[in-house]
Amino acid sequence: MEQAGMFLQQHPGSGKVTTTSTKRSKLLQELKTLMQQVRANFSGQEITSETALFWLDEWSLLAETHGIDLLRDALRHHCRTQRFLPLPVDVSDAIAAVKKRKVEERLGAFPYVACSRCIDGLLVEEIEKDGVMRRQARECDCKKQWRASRNAAIPPRNRFARDDD
Ligand SMILES: [Zn+2]
Repeated sequence: MEQAGMFLQQHPGSGKVTTTSTKRSKLLQELKTLMQQVRANFSGQEITSETALFWLDEWSLLAETHGIDLLRDALRHHCRTQRFLPLPVDVSDAIAAVKKRKVEERLGAFPYVACSRCIDGLLVEEIEKDGVMRRQARECDCKKQWRASRNAAIPPRNRFARDDD
């Protein structure tokens, strides 16, 4: 596995300029350990050392983008739920799945309770227009405040469109 370090060093674009070589070699060591664990989990399947090196490079990019902890969780998730060694695209998918689950857990910590003035966050008002009484619904302040506090607890990069529920 010694070659993996050389492989990464030959591709300086794969790392951030600010990343120190110490940090990177520590990261690489963690990635190698993860690779060993994942390969052991799917021990019936063989991959070439070239493939393993390519995957290590892909994993290091994912780790730099999403953090090593998320990558580790994603690989664990894959090992628990899949039957085959993860291709880089599988690792990306697993990261998305883990992120989604984490966000849902955080959302679960922010149950919405409507105030006494509204119905599930909606205020229904009667307004007169052209001599006719019409009903109009608008969002209650209690729901706006709830969404703001919930959004503040979730990092922007983990937010989904459903934040505007
Ligand atoms: Zn309300």
